Amino acid sequence: MRQTRIAHVGIAVKRIDALIPFYRDVLGLTDAPLDDSDGARIAGLTAGDSLIELLEPVDDGSPIAKFIEKRGPGIHHICFTVDDIDATLARCRQAGITLIDETPRMGAEGKRIAFLHPKSTGGILIELSEY
Ligand code: ZN
Repeated sequence: MRQTRIAHVGIAVKRIDALIPFYRDVLGLTDAPLDDSDGARIAGLTAGDSLIELLEPVDDGSPIAKFIEKRGPGIHHICFTVDDIDATLARCRQAGITLIDETPRMGAEGKRIAFLHPKSTGGILIELSEY
C-alpha cells in the first residue's frame, strides 16, 4: 500500500493574474497548466514535488465564489492522494466523518476524487484523490 501524500493545496483567490508574479517570480515556483474545474479557473504552480492550485471563480454562483464571499481569499482545501479511495471513504464513514461525496467522482485530472466536510475535519475542506 502506497503512503498517503499531499497532492496539492488549493488556494481561493479573487484574481489569479494578480498573484502569479508573487508565486512564480518572487518565490520561484514553476507553472503547471491545469484544466478548469467546478466553476473555477485553476493555475497550477509547483514547488519541488508540491503543487499549489490557485482557484479563481469564473462565475458568482461557483463554490469558490461562495467561499471567498463568506470567508475571504485563502486556503480553500488540502488534497491528499490515497492508495485506495473506496477503502479510505469507508474508513472515514466508520470514523463518523461527514462526506460531501458519498462515492468518488472524476476530477479534473482524470483521477477519482471525493471531498470530506470541514465540520468533521477540524475546519479544513479535505479532498481525497486516488493514485
Ligand atoms: Zn483540489
